[in-house]
Amino acid sequence: MRNDLPILSLEPERCPVCGASVRKENLRSHYEKVHPRKVASLAQPKTLTVASSGSVFRSHRRRNILVLSIVVLVVIGVSFAAATYDRGIHWHPVLSITSNTSGAVTVPMNIGIDQSLWKDHSLDQYGEGGLSPMHTHDTSGTIHVEANTSHHDFTLHEFLAIWGQPSDGSAINGKAVVSLTIDGQAQASPTQDFVLKDKQQIRMVTA
Ligand SMILES: [Zn+2]
Ligand SMILES: [Zn+2]
Repeated sequence: MRNDLPILSLEPERCPVCGASVRKENLRSHYEKVHPRKVASLAQPKTLTVASSGSVFRSHRRRNILVLSIVVLVVIGVSFAAATYDRGIHWHPVLSITSNTSGAVTVPMNIGIDQSLWKDHSLDQYGEGGLSPMHTHDTSGTIHVEANTSHHDFTLHEFLAIWGQPSDGSAINGKAVVSLTIDGQAQASPTQDFVLKDKQQIRMVTA
């Protein structure tokens, strides 16, 4: 403001074209006499400049709002996609089997990996890395429930079918299942199927 003051006070006193002393109210007639070609620039520039700069500012602001809206929408979209992105599951229930006649039953390694231990292929679409969605990597009894979706339940009987045991859970290695315990809870029916969960402790006893 301080810088503008001298200009504002000088402006009416001088013609901006020739610098001659002209009172503000006489500027137009001075122009018409001395600078007829510049008359147009006398009245119009101010209003024109204000109008055009105003609309330029408005259109910039409109564009900025548009760009900002797009950025906000993209951020919302990306975070929504990230939140709903299905990373699948990788759970480790543990199955231990004991036979009343022959003792501990080994759950072999590479069930759902080796073709000889991969009998049921109906769930292959949910597997990752060319493996069945339920498989074993060792003989610890740990079942790797490793699937590309968290929207599908995988059950013990499905695992048994992949292994090549009866898919109704009625027998292991030809011996009838006589009891089933899940996380310490004895199940009413030894052949009842159930959804596998992470860190679940499953105990089966066979004849
Ligand atoms: Zn695993
Ligand atoms: Zn695995």
